[in-house]
Amino acid sequence: MRPAPTILHLDMDAFYASAEQASKPSLRGKAVVVGGLGPRGVVATASYEARKLGVHSAMPTAQARRLAPNAAYLVPRFSLYRTVSDQVMELLGRLSPLVEPLSLDEAFVDLEAGGTADDSASARATGEGLRAAIRAVTGLSGSVGLAGSKMLAKIASEEAKPDGLFVIEPGTERELLAPMSVRILPGVGPATGDHLRRAGMTTVHDLAEAGEAELVRLVGKAHGHGLYRMALGLDDRPVVAERDAKSVSVEDTFDVDLHDRVRVRAEVERLAVRCVERLRGADRSGRTVVLKVRRYDFSTLTRSETLRGPTDDPTVVREAAGRLLESVDTTGGVRLLGVGVTGLADYTQEDLFAQAADARELAQRAQEHRAPVEEDGGEEAAPEPDAATAELLAARRWPAGHDVRHEEHGHGWVQGSGIGRVTVRFEEPWSAPGRVLTFRIDDPLLLPAEPLPLVREAPDYSSWPASLPKSRSDAESSGGGASSP
Ligand SMILES: [Mg+2]
Repeated sequence: MRPAPTILHLDMDAFYASAEQASKPSLRGKAVVVGGLGPRGVVATASYEARKLGVHSAMPTAQARRLAPNAAYLVPRFSLYRTVSDQVMELLGRLSPLVEPLSLDEAFVDLEAGGTADDSASARATGEGLRAAIRAVTGLSGSVGLAGSKMLAKIASEEAKPDGLFVIEPGTERELLAPMSVRILPGVGPATGDHLRRAGMTTVHDLAEAGEAELVRLVGKAHGHGLYRMALGLDDRPVVAERDAKSVSVEDTFDVDLHDRVRVRAEVERLAVRCVERLRGADRSGRTVVLKVRRYDFSTLTRSETLRGPTDDPTVVREAAGRLLESVDTTGGVRLLGVGVTGLADYTQEDLFAQAADARELAQRAQEHRAPVEEDGGEEAAPEPDAATAELLAARRWPAGHDVRHEEHGHGWVQGSGIGRVTVRFEEPWSAPGRVLTFRIDDPLLLPAEPLPLVREAPDYSSWPASLPKSRSDAESSGGGASSP
């Protein structure tokens, strides 16, 4: 814990949904849900308007549709999000050599190591300057937390949301944390949270009061010790620039062995999504999905599956991890689960995986059509795809929310498609809300297009942050700072 709030945590506000609203004038101020739209799809991000209706990330899309039937449901456009993310990370890199991305839209920055802040006033000025720069360059808002440790900086950015800045002055953290839910502490998931609640502890204050010995008794030595330190606001983890990782993995130990197969499966899926978030944060993809299972008797098994090409698609990783789980006997109980992706590449082949997903769905569709035939007479299924399947294929070329260009009407995005038709709204990020037209899916004048930038004429920020206060070079500062000769 350092004496000045020079660890910064940036978190873009409702990132994917905000990028879609910035792109599509007709969706501003409206409920927008970005995520998987298939039968097993999950919400990636909901706009603040959709959150008011109860929609949140990781919720099944089918459930979101019941809560917000009139929201716009869009398929993610990762190429756009990655472009914006690169712009944001580039700005962060100018503040310090120590930038630790957590996902496409979230990162820690060590301002002290960068010489861009050395006290509360300079940290606040740097944070506000960063927010203005991000808004000018990307057109989107981000929230900034500043504190003396990573844990507190992340809590601060949560307090700052949306579109704000919050500083936790060192010395005030215990008072601030005391009434907060235990769930705000890193590593306290739903399972540990429930466990602590059953022991009568719901707030951080309750944990601090319970004392270390009691927490160790409840959740084990390693976890209990860490939990107590965090409840006191103590966290010495350094900001680490994550560059050369060969693999990305996440794992969770459970307080109580898991026996319920459905629960085990749900945990594996949750870990897969978290793993992909980290993968994307590092702007990477990987080919081999690894599942780790430690059983009740401490025997540890790993299973892996290598895909045809690199992916950072949560659905692909989730399904692979689920298949791997099928081959593991968990009847005695599970203590720990982990999901990792190795064989990292710096690029993805989303198209390839979109195709793979299409192929899977097609195969499934074909199966469904075949089933009644077999029941009736045990006949072999007809080899050619039926009309519905052919239509599915055609419809897949126009994912909701994706960009198109029409020779006469200009740039637009797919509002919906089906039954041989595609509905397009013609508008640009800087235009007024546009009009809607419907075409045949095989209209030769309508073509898929690349996303437009969110800001038409980006201001010149090439010399930013020249005007920021520079701390005097002090001999005591730890190494790693980029001091110019
Ligand atoms: Mg965010």
